Amino acid sequence: MTGIRTTCAYCGVGCGIVATRQGERGVTIRGDADHPANAGRLCSKGTHLGETTGLEGRLLHPMIGDRRAGWDKALDLVARRFRETIAAHGPNSVALYVSGQLLTEDYYVANKLMKGFIGSGNIDTNSRLCMSSAVAGHLRAFGEDVVPASYDDLDEADLIVLVGSNTAWCHPVVYQRIQAARAARGTKLVVIDPRRTETAEEADLHLAIRPGSDVALMNGLLAHCRREGLTDDATLDVPDGFWTALDADGDLWTTARTCDVAPADLHRFFELFAATPRTVTLFSQGINQSIRGTDQVNAILNLHLATGRIGRPGAAPFSITGQPNAMGGREVGGLASTLAAHMDFAPDNVARVGRFWAAPQMATKPGLKAVDLFRAVEQGRIKALWIMATNPAVSMPDAGRVRAALADCPFVVVSDVMETTDTGLHADVRLPAAAWGEKDGTVTNSDRTISRQRAVLPLPGEVKPDWWIVAQVAARMGWADAFAYRHPADIWREHARLTAYQNDGARVLNLKAHAAIGNEAYDALAPFRWGGRPFADGRFSTPDGRARLVPVRQIALAEPLRGWPMTLNTGRYRDQWHTMTRTGLSPKLARHREEPLVEVHPDDAATLGLTDGGLARVATPQGDSLFRVTIATGQRPGELFVPIHWTDRQSTGGRAGLLPRPLADPHSGQPGFKNTPARIEPV
Ligand code: SF4
Repeated sequence: MTGIRTTCAYCGVGCGIVATRQGERGVTIRGDADHPANAGRLCSKGTHLGETTGLEGRLLHPMIGDRRAGWDKALDLVARRFRETIAAHGPNSVALYVSGQLLTEDYYVANKLMKGFIGSGNIDTNSRLCMSSAVAGHLRAFGEDVVPASYDDLDEADLIVLVGSNTAWCHPVVYQRIQAARAARGTKLVVIDPRRTETAEEADLHLAIRPGSDVALMNGLLAHCRREGLTDDATLDVPDGFWTALDADGDLWTTARTCDVAPADLHRFFELFAATPRTVTLFSQGINQSIRGTDQVNAILNLHLATGRIGRPGAAPFSITGQPNAMGGREVGGLASTLAAHMDFAPDNVARVGRFWAAPQMATKPGLKAVDLFRAVEQGRIKALWIMATNPAVSMPDAGRVRAALADCPFVVVSDVMETTDTGLHADVRLPAAAWGEKDGTVTNSDRTISRQRAVLPLPGEVKPDWWIVAQVAARMGWADAFAYRHPADIWREHARLTAYQNDGARVLNLKAHAAIGNEAYDALAPFRWGGRPFADGRFSTPDGRARLVPVRQIALAEPLRGWPMTLNTGRYRDQWHTMTRTGLSPKLARHREEPLVEVHPDDAATLGLTDGGLARVATPQGDSLFRVTIATGQRPGELFVPIHWTDRQSTGGRAGLLPRPLADPHSGQPGFKNTPARIEPV
């Protein structure tokens, strides 16, 4: 048997996989040598996907409360409660909270229901927690949410700068590609990260900057390039005073002081960047998950735009995303802040999408972003909430408060593959959704490559695809004709038509070639990257075609709060994924880190009486949890690091989600998971 070509379930690298069914539920996995994202490579998580396809813990039947129910009864109940809530309290009293684990087709149908038929913008996604600051930064600079890079650029760069990314652990196949480029052409690697991670260990230069000083660093570098005569803003939209303000930020020594790095190291980085036109700057959660995330993104984009490091081979700013379909969700409008097909809520876009959908009631303004959405649940303004393929009771910041809000919400629906999740415990109705290996559709990875996820296994029990479940509810709410999809290809064609509908070059996203694709061709679809090399002609998606430099300033970095002398950082482990509902099923993956550890600098450990291997309580104003201590010289003094994965179901401690503040970036709404005031004490 040759196997079925599909795409990995986990991160935004989007590796191609050849999956071969073995017996009832078994699947063997190998990397797809023909997939452009990975050329056959896989990391540990992808390699062990076959250990996660059993039926252990699966939700196999619709449930109303603790009782099994038929699909008709469960769907009728969901439709009726949503209809009644809307009739009594208006369309903004209901919300959908979806996930980068959904396929593009699932996302499209959910977005259409909420924004075109219910008439509210209240659909947001856990991608808000991952990369919405990159989206907001792209929109401000380019006029469209386009990642102007591809993995091929990594092969052609002479310098790769990784900012706020432990790529070796979090995007391992991208890291393998970077290492291959270093071996093949001597590409230099600079890592900018407060922690000396596994990635930083192997870099040519590591700048362990003070957390939150990224804008100062990028502005300092841009000012250096300006002084060296390396900037050209003739074709850019440059606000008055942009350069003057940048110069006023000070010289290299001032920047070094703000960032708390050695001036000699900073100078080396500045010289290397200035001398290397083929530079790719990859950035991830260390940039995005900040209450200043969008400004940090724009500081990077400013640098690449003004120095011409964009739209050319080996030269680009590159937001690398967390989830398999974070980008597909962005393309169909799965964020509360966007409409559909890369359009915003400008009146002509609302009218255009409304015409296309023949929508009875279009949302006319953005809906609630994740943090605000759950606050609205807490305040009783959202009275019916449908959560799909995500676990906000663990993953949202200040998760204890989210859990209490869910418990008090009058009607909660959860679509999930697992029978018991921390979020599902609060559901009135649970709907069994198809898992990876069972569902069919498309995903878009971090470099705009669209790939098929294909079913390898039959749907177990009464499990259904997410798009089918949403379409059934829409039909029961009275919109059967608009949601009469029989195959994911029906949805794909409609999405492709919408991207091209009255889009005369206004947006880069345009899937016109797929608007009439047949079912067989869709089933056989090979991976392809949309958009070619964006902005190679110097034209952007703004009204006048010019990219914008966005003035961003470094804010004063706060001194430690009294009683909270440390700062807490969160992140991922190499072999675990999100809240471990899938990777937790693999014994081999569990061996890498068997329990959640708090990393502490040796000086702090000595001062606070913490011992390596001992237990400690990590506390913030939001909550506290137990962790096992590991003394780590890669930590900066005064800073702690904990992993995000563990939940109550797996461990009595390690509840990282209880700790961060529910504060968000003002532009993107992305929560600032990093730099939470904290303290630690031995127990
Ligand atoms: Fe899957 Fe990401 Fe690993 Fe590739 S790098 S195999 S997409 S988890």
